[in-house]
Amino acid sequence: MIYLDNAATTFPKPHRVTAEVMRCLTEYCGNPGRGSHRLALAAAEQIFSCREALSSFLGVGAPERILFTQNTTYALNLAIKGFLRQGDHVLISELEHNAVRRPICVLAAKGQITFDVFPVVGLTQDELLLRLAEKITPATRAVICTHASNICSITLPIARIGALCRKRGIRLIVDAAQSAGILPIDMKTMHIDALAAPGHKSLYGIQGCGFLAIGKDFALEPLMEGGSGVDSLPAEMPTDPPERFEAGTLPTPAIVGLLEGVRSLTSGTARDLAARERELFCAATERLSSLPDIHIFAKEHTGSVLLFQKDGVSAAELGRHLGSKGICVRTGLHCAPMAHKALGTPDGGAVRVSFGRYNTPSDVDSLWEALKS
Ligand code: PMP
Repeated sequence: MIYLDNAATTFPKPHRVTAEVMRCLTEYCGNPGRGSHRLALAAAEQIFSCREALSSFLGVGAPERILFTQNTTYALNLAIKGFLRQGDHVLISELEHNAVRRPICVLAAKGQITFDVFPVVGLTQDELLLRLAEKITPATRAVICTHASNICSITLPIARIGALCRKRGIRLIVDAAQSAGILPIDMKTMHIDALAAPGHKSLYGIQGCGFLAIGKDFALEPLMEGGSGVDSLPAEMPTDPPERFEAGTLPTPAIVGLLEGVRSLTSGTARDLAARERELFCAATERLSSLPDIHIFAKEHTGSVLLFQKDGVSAAELGRHLGSKGICVRTGLHCAPMAHKALGTPDGGAVRVSFGRYNTPSDVDSLWEALKS
């Protein structure tokens, strides 16, 4: 099997991740923050270590401002619904995943907010910033956008968008589902107010947790109420993060997996990993360009997600063919219909190839051979 679907979830996981998850399950998986016995304390300690590791990896500035969630989607819903107020106007990019687009559309349909979409495809960074600035109104309270597209190699100039937002008094909420662990992120210097990411993609944890990292003065309300393990008497949630936002039992095994995933990235090779994924992307782009009728979308950009289509063959059919050769890719609209529309892919979408740390140049050769046949 050749796994080229790392944008959906990375596979396989580093051994240190699976080993620690297993150690957690067999040696210390008490309920964190729910008791003062050895197992509960050990789980809580590991969870705090994960907050510390993420906080320093992403330049958050305080471990308690890492809020664990079940996935990126929940983290984005928390940022969007916990921050926006009646009458706000927001700007989202045309590359947004449904995890941003749908909550925004629902709030707009209820008459709570208005929103506008800024273009990205085919624009230089300067043009993008100009088009974004043009759409700002006096009611604009947030820009919400992805850092890296989940369907193609386009990445957004987040630091420049952050500087613009800061200058105009607007908050920046970033979907880092496809960038955390690959692209450098420093929330403070990039002026990011809230950043959502999954544990199970390029941070190399397992499925079961994501997080929202928030800036110091980001006024957020919880999305859920419930037990927090501390301060049980009041009817309201505790006032401070992270407990204010983390109702119910946390997924300790997923969080310790994420901790090991982050540690594996900070052990000196993270930059090499991004460069290697990029090399594989360039090799695949070159190989596929030599095949007749193959069209690659946004190939001139700097990310490593490759989107292509073959004339006269549907994406689903192409995906089935590659699957029959043992090559795992993802086809269709990838939960990002606006992005497909902007790129001009056919009705059935296109084929996405996404690399991870365990892919090699021979995987690119196999993809090429399978497409040739
Ligand atoms: N945003 C982007 C850009 C994504 O690629 C994904 C995952 N496909 C999500 C959000 C949602 O992530 P999750 O499945 O962890 O909720």
